[in-house]
Amino acid sequence: MGPVLILLGPPGAGKGTQARMLEEDFGLVQLSTGDLLRAAVAAGTDAGKQAKAVMEAGQLVSDDIVLAILKDRMVQPDVAKGVILDGFPRTAVQAEALDELLADAGQKITAAISLEVDDEAMVARVSGRYTCAGCGEGYHDEFKQPAKAGVCDKCGGTAMKRRADDNAETVRERLTAYHDQTAPLITYYDDKGVLERLDAMGPIADIRQALGAIVQGVAA
Ligand code: AMP
Repeated sequence: MGPVLILLGPPGAGKGTQARMLEEDFGLVQLSTGDLLRAAVAAGTDAGKQAKAVMEAGQLVSDDIVLAILKDRMVQPDVAKGVILDGFPRTAVQAEALDELLADAGQKITAAISLEVDDEAMVARVSGRYTCAGCGEGYHDEFKQPAKAGVCDKCGGTAMKRRADDNAETVRERLTAYHDQTAPLITYYDDKGVLERLDAMGPIADIRQALGAIVQGVAA
């Protein structure tokens, strides 16, 4: 199996944006538990029904549900190319379960990269963001509009969507959940010797480059 990379960071840090770029640059597969959960909500599965209200409140979905969804995804053949875990793990229980899952497959974590940002800037970043419904390209009311209003630069699609949880109030809840439950994983991975820290406040292209250099260093 290819490298196993974890992107750590609060909502709005750029995990999804950078994971998509790493897919392009390194042929890896983005694995976002948030995307998998939103798909389960949209499909109306049992897990989706249980997760919906929790997600809208900006809290964490139970470890059982998230781990079941992740394990289902990890057995797909494309995962062999190597993965970028985006938004997973988010709790100590999930981190330990991931270690076990990888150990069972004779694998381990290549690197956990912490995208370091200021909380207050995250509220503005997350509140204005939206994506192309067709290809998933990300945009922002203030920071990144498409060249032609309402038309995706990447695929030409005209349907844009916003997440139900991307509002200022819910973002604050999500930041609290991050600091309480997820930020301790930075120490967890530091202790394992796989942590990389990256200042992620700059322009997207600069971070792409810096992240690419890190990935090249650990996964080449
Ligand atoms: P995200 O797309 O990563 O921002 O996730 C959106 C929401 O999905 C989060 O606020 C949580 O409610 C839920 N979620 C996503 N990933 C996880 C996870 N690993 N553990 C628990 N909840 C998650």
